[in-house]
Amino acid sequence: MKKILLIAIAALFFSQLYAEERPQNSDDRMVVPCYNELLRNLILIPDIDGYKTLKCDFHMHTMFADAQVSPEGRVNEAWCDGLDVVCVSEHIGVHKSPGIKRFDHNLVQDRAIKQGKKLGLLVVKGIEITRSKPFGHMNMLFLNDCNVFCEERFMWDKDGNEMRDANGHRIPNRATEMSDFEAAEKQHAFIQWNHPGWPDKICDMPDFHKQMIKEHRIHSVEIFNSAEWYPKVLDWYDEFKIPMVANSDSHRPIRITYNDHIRPMTLVFAKEYTIESVREAMFAGRMLALFNNTLAGDAELIKQLISKSLTLRVINEKKGLVEVQNNTDICFRTLFGDHMNPVIFYPRKAIQVTIKKGTELDFIDCLAGRKSVKMKLW
Ligand SMILES: [Zn+2]
Ligand SMILES: [Zn+2]
Repeated sequence: MKKILLIAIAALFFSQLYAEERPQNSDDRMVVPCYNELLRNLILIPDIDGYKTLKCDFHMHTMFADAQVSPEGRVNEAWCDGLDVVCVSEHIGVHKSPGIKRFDHNLVQDRAIKQGKKLGLLVVKGIEITRSKPFGHMNMLFLNDCNVFCEERFMWDKDGNEMRDANGHRIPNRATEMSDFEAAEKQHAFIQWNHPGWPDKICDMPDFHKQMIKEHRIHSVEIFNSAEWYPKVLDWYDEFKIPMVANSDSHRPIRITYNDHIRPMTLVFAKEYTIESVREAMFAGRMLALFNNTLAGDAELIKQLISKSLTLRVINEKKGLVEVQNNTDICFRTLFGDHMNPVIFYPRKAIQVTIKKGTELDFIDCLAGRKSVKMKLW
């Protein structure tokens, strides 16, 4: 019996040895190295002094509510796209996936976090409170428990039927909006006001939001969502200095929407690459929105980012001939001097151009409110 066991162990040992020694490429099985599934695109955006520049998307959805991708899939997409931090912010009270009437929001979060750990990508726990206007949609980020919110967005009568108004529209359940808001505050959530110009194409600020922003109970607002942006948010930034963010709000696979373009993102300037550091940076307002080569937010943060992004080499000081190298994936368009058309600093390229010393350049797509950022390069 002992002999048989020894023979079995030896057979197993040699069979494994044989498997390991088989050449990776043979007539039986050829491996195509460039199809490695753990290949990640990089987005070049530099750190600034004292802070890491983290590329984040705090708004996306999964198949549990009304989207097409699993929680793990969202994390995989973000990792492949070169992002550093995401939130899979599933809708509260939206159950459009066939066969899914209710789901455990914490389970969705746990699945995303687990996948994030596998890939070394930070996943923030959060949800989207999804109500009709004027309350609208808000993301509650850095939660502990995502199952405390009201799933009944509309009114039901005592017989369990949906209540509808004279026009046949479902009647919103207004009573629980504020209690949901406060339930998030109890967990010290970072509260982000989503897509203020959607779905009615009217971008305005209701009194409730104005009050909450004044009281610092709403902490950021999306200037960009999905494929649209809201210029009026720049006015709100000028008035309230509320940080602006950009997110995908993706429902379909991300590549269908953005193809080969760099997806929208929020840049967070964090001391370290940890959830706690991201949270600290966001409550401190160290964020910029980035979409379609447009940066929006604090002028000083934008200036720091530009000075780290562009390196300048003087060719002829007297004539002001310089070579400006853009070390990023952001395209910067500028106006200065007599130029009628923008002088463009293309991503990952250098350009020779005449910029007299002390000239102020207008970075026309870098928006610190309605005004663009102006700065000297030398
Ligand atoms: Zn929404
Ligand atoms: Zn959403």
